[in-house]
Amino acid sequence: MTNTRPIRTRFAPSPTGDLHLGSVRTALFSWLYAKAHGGTFVLRIEDTDVERSTQASVDNILEGMSWLGLDYDEGPFYQMQRMDHYQTVLNELLDKNLAYRCDCTPERLTDLREKARESGDKPRYDGHCQHRNLSKDHSLPTVIRFRNPTDGDVSFTDSVRGPITVKNEELDDLIIARSDGTPTYNFTVVIDDRDMEISHVIRGDDHINNTPRQINLFQALGATPPIYAHVPMILGKDGKRLSKRHAATNVLSYRDAGYLPEALLNDLARLGWSHGDQEIFSRDELIQLFSLDTINKAGAVFNEEKLDWFNQHYLQTLPAKNLAPLLEEQLNALLISTDKGPALEDVLKAQASRCKTLKEMAEKSKYFYDDSLSFDEEAVKKHLTSAVFPAFTDLCLSLKDLSPWTPETIKQALKTCAGTHSLSFGKLAQPLRVALSGNTISPSIDLTIQLIGRERCIKRLQNTVSN
Ligand code: GLU
Repeated sequence: MTNTRPIRTRFAPSPTGDLHLGSVRTALFSWLYAKAHGGTFVLRIEDTDVERSTQASVDNILEGMSWLGLDYDEGPFYQMQRMDHYQTVLNELLDKNLAYRCDCTPERLTDLREKARESGDKPRYDGHCQHRNLSKDHSLPTVIRFRNPTDGDVSFTDSVRGPITVKNEELDDLIIARSDGTPTYNFTVVIDDRDMEISHVIRGDDHINNTPRQINLFQALGATPPIYAHVPMILGKDGKRLSKRHAATNVLSYRDAGYLPEALLNDLARLGWSHGDQEIFSRDELIQLFSLDTINKAGAVFNEEKLDWFNQHYLQTLPAKNLAPLLEEQLNALLISTDKGPALEDVLKAQASRCKTLKEMAEKSKYFYDDSLSFDEEAVKKHLTSAVFPAFTDLCLSLKDLSPWTPETIKQALKTCAGTHSLSFGKLAQPLRVALSGNTISPSIDLTIQLIGRERCIKRLQNTVSN
């Protein structure tokens, strides 16, 4: 099917929980497709499930989108604000006899299902009320059902799955409004996709079974259905749909854990889409290269190690000045003030190759800013013996007047000190690391000393010797 309409895509989350990795990936694909074609990306909040929808979920969705830079051109539209409109369309369908009222009780419907199950048939509504012409003033509660065509097929070409055909006789008459008058998902989604002139619906393949019914509704309304692309689910390592049992699924928890939006976007894009063997994609490259026919047909497994790998790549390659405020936030979250201490950009450059996340980096960088060191007891016992104290005292003197204060001059001072005290460089460096940072892991000792700063180093060494 060719589609010459202007490209308009949408993301239509239900605010019944936090923004999930799986749904944000469909948002990303919809966003990319719109950007790639100079189209429009619409955000629509499907909040008609009043019991389960919350403002906190709406806020979480909007914040997650904003963090990832998935900006929308139109919206957010809220379905609850379109209720009057849905009622108007429901009445039109009833007037045109394209829909009808049904008073079948839940007991009758359960009974139908049971019987179908017993005889091995697919459960479906038997059309009991199809020709009863029940009116609005009927004495019993009524739902509204769409009069699904009884013969023929529904065919469409899914951009991911290929051609799909379903016989109409397999589809029963869908409930489009509940007995309290509220419209159902399959109805509102069609009305909105029609009214918002959505050209491409890119969504999770858990909706694929709804699609033939939605297409029939489009046709009854005299509207052209969009092109559909059903994206396979993201899976956990056990092959089941990704859930909290496997990993955090809330997008914002990745921000809080110190991941970069660039890394998460790159990882999500690669989960379910590929361009040769390439792994690293900038946002602009994704826009240039993304196409619906390169979405994978099989579900992809979410792998935290891979995300770590992407994150570390971006920690090492994005400009330190852009990352510095994020590192500061992470340090502040640990109650560390960065006012007194090395420039955050310098810490970033020194630590990027050693940390997977900004949170890890903050945890490993506290000692640059905070004098209350947490000592690794093992390391203290092993390395901070009084045998090195004379060297420490000596080093304090040479560091005091060292000029210029650079890793090179510091290294030279350490070498001289080690020589004077007949220590190998390592036998001086490791105790120094423990005395200055609390443990045995830090950037190279000369850089560590330079970043901690002259006064702090001298004070920490003097404290070690005098305690
Ligand atoms: N509100 C639906 C959901 O969150 C969206 C379905 C669709 O994209 O059509 O699953």
